Amino acid sequence: MAHESLTQTQKALLGLRQRILSGTITGGTRLYEVALAEELAISRTPIRAALSRLAEEGLLERGRGGGFVVRSFALADVVDTIDLRGVLEGTAARYAAERGASPEDLAKAQSILREIDRVLADQAIDMESYSSLNTAFHNQLARMAQSATLQRELARITALPFASPSAFLEDHDRIETLQRTLISAQAQHVAILEAIAGRESGRAEALAREHARAARRNVEFLLSHEGVLREGVASLALLTD
Ligand SMILES: [Zn+2]
Repeated sequence: MAHESLTQTQKALLGLRQRILSGTITGGTRLYEVALAEELAISRTPIRAALSRLAEEGLLERGRGGGFVVRSFALADVVDTIDLRGVLEGTAARYAAERGASPEDLAKAQSILREIDRVLADQAIDMESYSSLNTAFHNQLARMAQSATLQRELARITALPFASPSAFLEDHDRIETLQRTLISAQAQHVAILEAIAGRESGRAEALAREHARAARRNVEFLLSHEGVLREGVASLALLTD
């Protein structure tokens, strides 16, 4: 378990995402599996899996006649969008605390958190389950705000895949780094819910903003680390909020 390294797909994902976000590969560039496989020294199957994933995140789009093209966007937009999500989620948590969440809504949120605990207790964390439960918790948080306007704006912003609460989940270089980060994100979930249940609106807002803030830090961290494809690179954080 200790010192388990990245899978080939994760390496391809990290390498490509870093090149796209840093502008090394510019918008409009068509990506070819064969050339990428050669450049990254990774076989074609994981390259293909990474390309599909990046398309889901919105960093790539399908080109005419197949293949993928890098979407044009500015890094500043990614950072601003993540910041804005933090502001909206903070406001959602504050509203929920001020307006008082119903016992049913609190129970639903608590049961999602218990399921996340179960996923995290496993030796090999099922990232797909974590990711969908994390999304479910954030959706529940938006519902508890009892504001159709806020819920609509949050849905709009998290529809940008790189700004969703579950984006970039696999950006880590070690299994233990991933576990540590997910456990700390889960501790934030618990604290946010406690603040809402306790009607502590200021605290709920600050906690939810901080929870989203981790995402921004991780984008910056990702970009500040060159050579993620090398083995043994210092711990690379991830977006886990
Ligand atoms: Zn979260």
